[in-house]
Amino acid sequence: MVGGGVVGLATAWRLQSTGLQVTVFDPAVGRGASYAAAGMLAPSAEVVVGEETNYKLQRDSTTRWRALSRELESFGAPAIGVHQVGTLLVGWDASDRRSVAQHATVLRSFGAEYREIQRSELPHFFDGVSDRISQGIFMEDDGWLDPDEALFALRTGLTLRGVEWVASRVETITPVGGHVRLGVGGCKRRFDAVLVATGAESLVEGIESRESVRSVRGSTIRGRGFDRFGLPMLRAFVRGRPFYLVGRREGEVLFGASAEEKDALSVEIGELHRLLRDALDVMPTLETLEWQEIRTGRRPASPSGEPFFDAHPDERWAWMSGHYRHGVTLAPLATEDALAFVQGVLQ
Ligand SMILES: Cc1cc2nc3c(=O)[nH]c(=O)nc-3n(C[C@H](O)[C@H](O)[C@H](O)COP(=O)(O)OP(=O)(O)OC[C@H]3O[C@@H](n4cnc5c(N)ncnc54)[C@H](O)[C@@H]3O)c2cc1C
Repeated sequence: MVGGGVVGLATAWRLQSTGLQVTVFDPAVGRGASYAAAGMLAPSAEVVVGEETNYKLQRDSTTRWRALSRELESFGAPAIGVHQVGTLLVGWDASDRRSVAQHATVLRSFGAEYREIQRSELPHFFDGVSDRISQGIFMEDDGWLDPDEALFALRTGLTLRGVEWVASRVETITPVGGHVRLGVGGCKRRFDAVLVATGAESLVEGIESRESVRSVRGSTIRGRGFDRFGLPMLRAFVRGRPFYLVGRREGEVLFGASAEEKDALSVEIGELHRLLRDALDVMPTLETLEWQEIRTGRRPASPSGEPFFDAHPDERWAWMSGHYRHGVTLAPLATEDALAFVQGVLQ
């Protein structure tokens, strides 16, 4: 496995669980996009016109993560909390409220469930939300997990099951007859099959693909001092931009996210300003939130916006990427293609 983000680690777990011997190469395990992710498993809140397939792929994500967590636990790894709290979607101004109505139309056309709610009916759902917002739609199937917790559980489980960790970057991949050679730090290693899950990084030298990814940079902010744990995740359209907030344990709040078609892992002042302004407009109570940190990552986006599994069975390698805004949500599902591929190659 080349790449130890959420996709690579979930896949390594799946392969190692079937009795294969797996080696994970990554100079910074869990420090790619997975590190910045909010961890929302929110197929309904994420619907986009024309992306019904993507919605359907994501629909069972809470069930899949719960099953993965149980499996990890049975091997002595810590559990991963999957919190199915739903999403409340609201609009800031009249135009944003129209976007909420359009979102509801897309949900209906995909056969997804939601309900319209008034603030007076469920006031605690609107805890901390600006008084000028009096209604929204609620999608109860959505949930979230803490990506740090998920990555830690996967790393622990993999270590307990005897995976080999190599903290180095893979520089070259060379298919050679019945095996694949990896170039790592001036050395060569031979493997029966190689899976590449390097997120928004372009493909490793030596192999070629019809697929491509670009980086869509994003940041999430973490703070402490406002308790929304157990309440729905909040989503808002604010002056046309999307905003979201997840209430975690012990008054921790995570919100985001910026989206910039950029590669560099830096945060621009304007980007940060927009994010904070949107947050304070929708949730004025965040004014007194204690700042903890900002995390930035590069979402791996394919030209179609959909994930891909580019298999080269004759050369014994495959590239899995393009998970874009949904890599945490889709990671357990992504492992299925990988397992089928490796089993096919090794037959
Ligand atoms: C701000 C933000 C918020 C997000 N929120 C959500 C969310 O709420 N829900 C959701 O489902 N998704 C979310 N996402 C998307 C999600 O984070 C990504 O789709 C997902 O993390 C991609 O996982 P990955 O394992 O493919 O890539 P990454 O996590 O980027 O991991 C790739 C790994 O490959 C390693 N690597 C790269 N090149 C090499 C090499 N040559 N050799 C060895 N190792 C290499 C890197 O060090 C890295 O660890 C968010 C993303 C961002 C940026």
